[in-house]
Amino acid sequence: MALLSVKNLCAYYQTELYGISRTVRAVDGVSLELLRNEIYGVAGESSCGKTTLIKVISGNIKPPLKVNSGSVDYQFESYAVDMLHVSKDELRRNVRWKEISYVMQGSMSVLNPVRKVIKTFEDIVDTHDPITDKKKFLEQVTAHVNLLGLPTEVLNSYPHQLSGGMRQRVAIALATLFQPSLIIADEPTTALDVVVQRGVLQMIKDIQAMSGNTVLLVTHDMAVHANVADRVMIMYAGRIAEEAPTASIFNASLHPYTQHLIRSLPMIGERSNKAGLKGTPPNLANPPSGCRFHTRCPDVMEVCRTEVPDLVPVKERHRVACHLIQETSL
Ligand code: SF4
Repeated sequence: MALLSVKNLCAYYQTELYGISRTVRAVDGVSLELLRNEIYGVAGESSCGKTTLIKVISGNIKPPLKVNSGSVDYQFESYAVDMLHVSKDELRRNVRWKEISYVMQGSMSVLNPVRKVIKTFEDIVDTHDPITDKKKFLEQVTAHVNLLGLPTEVLNSYPHQLSGGMRQRVAIALATLFQPSLIIADEPTTALDVVVQRGVLQMIKDIQAMSGNTVLLVTHDMAVHANVADRVMIMYAGRIAEEAPTASIFNASLHPYTQHLIRSLPMIGERSNKAGLKGTPPNLANPPSGCRFHTRCPDVMEVCRTEVPDLVPVKERHRVACHLIQETSL
């Protein structure tokens, strides 16, 4: 059984300014499953709905964001959670950090700049399981950071005394302390240089291999997905364009948008200029009719302007939403 099952999720931002109401359809009809023990990548350009999707998946739904329809269900080891109806108290006590943890782009958002790193560990653990034996707590945290290849000294440092890469590793250590079933990593390497980025990605891979949990990795960087993800989902304008095992996305993608993303990756030794996509991502307050990619698609047909393509299976674990592609019975 899947760890997470999202069905026909529609999550919109509803705003009202000077008497004018506006609905931004950030996530519009998304269905997906996260399996146990996999790294699932989510890719797509800015404003395609990636961040809104993880907000809903992690239960961080605050106005003006509203879930209009759909379901988000978890099946953890010993209990199930309906994320759209779970109480705030249950979310805080048993779900966040223990079952679902979050690694965000800026580690400073997690670490308290005026407290030593160990104090942040203490604060988080205390919220969930009040610390009664300080010595045992220290031993457990030290063993955990050492297991992840971090020196014990980081615990006694202030965040500003650590490099950006080391801070991000500490943030990952924090997120994995309770061995959660799902780790959501939102652009975890964006602010880091390439060498440090590699170390952080390796750390995420090692943790996943060691603990067998599921990682939801959100990044616009396709090279990161190529290195780390087992499956990749490509999002465009609030909808899934294509989802497939990583090798299929890179070697046998079927959606014109995915093909463009792959073609735009720099290749060693290649000197030709890369052609960009014409136009800009659509305004999700007033998205195009039919296929949302039709205003930029090089293969656009008449039907694309009026009819929304269904997301259909074409091969084992490979789904595509494009009128060019026929559904295959598996
Ligand atoms: Fe292009 Fe049409 Fe396919 Fe959309 S449905 S990606 S516009 S060919």
